Amino acid sequence: MQQSKARARFRSHAILLAALVAASGAAAFQVLPKVSDVDRKISTLGRNPVLDYLGHWFVGSAIPIMKSPVHESITLAAIGCGAGLGAEDECVTIDAVKEHRILLYGVRWPDDPPFLLNTKSPPRIKGCDASVTLRSTSQPLCWWGLFSDAGVQAEKKSHIKAPAFGPGDYMLYRSHYGDLQFMHAMGTYDGETAGDTVDRMKMWAEFLWGVASGITPTGSFIRDLGNSQLTSYFPGDITATNLFATGIIEVRKDLDKVAMGALLHMVQDSFSNAHTERGVDTGASCGTTGFAKPGQIQRFRSYTKQSSTSHDEADTPNALGLHTTQISPSAVDVSRTFLAMWKDKKSWAEASVFFDCVFEPRDRTIEADAGPYVAIPKGSE
Ligand SMILES: [Zn+2]
Repeated sequence: MQQSKARARFRSHAILLAALVAASGAAAFQVLPKVSDVDRKISTLGRNPVLDYLGHWFVGSAIPIMKSPVHESITLAAIGCGAGLGAEDECVTIDAVKEHRILLYGVRWPDDPPFLLNTKSPPRIKGCDASVTLRSTSQPLCWWGLFSDAGVQAEKKSHIKAPAFGPGDYMLYRSHYGDLQFMHAMGTYDGETAGDTVDRMKMWAEFLWGVASGITPTGSFIRDLGNSQLTSYFPGDITATNLFATGIIEVRKDLDKVAMGALLHMVQDSFSNAHTERGVDTGASCGTTGFAKPGQIQRFRSYTKQSSTSHDEADTPNALGLHTTQISPSAVDVSRTFLAMWKDKKSWAEASVFFDCVFEPRDRTIEADAGPYVAIPKGSE
């Protein structure tokens, strides 16, 4: 039942793909800079080179989280690309992407973590080749099939007051619909308290800061790093190298940048209204740090009952432009501060003071919900 529903959905997207290609012609093949070309090359060695060729276009142009380079815009603006406020999308040029490729790979990682498919029981989804590391750029149609399946399964479990997916499930399921949604500054289920969400975010940030600072060993199993909460998320034989760079050898010598990128992703998502509701920016500063304090977190959102369409509208370049022209400090400013502290080799003890100021919720007991992005139940539309 689940399979056939997922397949039906998948088929309708394949039809949509064909229609889009026919309707928009050459203009649709506008080339957006790609962060990693190496895993695209891998796809030509797999079993589905033609499907994957079409899939690259589909995933890169039709899937909102993949087509809008909002995280890339914010990150490049934070580095200092010189574009005016509200014009951060102009920062995304091929040269800039090439120059900051590894950091941007990290910024994109929580949306598109590479992982291996189960070779004993590979997904029965078109375009999936278990011998190729899965990422949107290496097996785009398989990626989309799994993403859709995760959504269908999560919906069925939406009444449970617990994450829909956890250790043992694919990273794509866990990151977008499961226990790792804190990586996107969101509750992991409807009803999770803000205190729980922010504690998980802080655990994650501390781990990322350790890798970014070169202090945390990237070749040790995460479960041996001495953090029991982190171990509960990654109990198996998995190192930071596996987590960030399964199948992507080219980034392994720069995992510090990848980790920093993943931290920036969480920071940036916490300024998206579909992820986190913040109060107004008051002009206050973060204690004695000298940095400005962003609007305080009122509550985290949960994706479980959100409409993916209205969620994605909050993450577009236009939404970003409205944000940076009207709010200070913005996602760009806070990203810039974390980047500056990283370059200055600040310890986690120092960086965590700023982290607490940026992420402290107004009320730790308030529960995550869909907010104004709630999906309208079918039949009442
Ligand atoms: Zn995200």
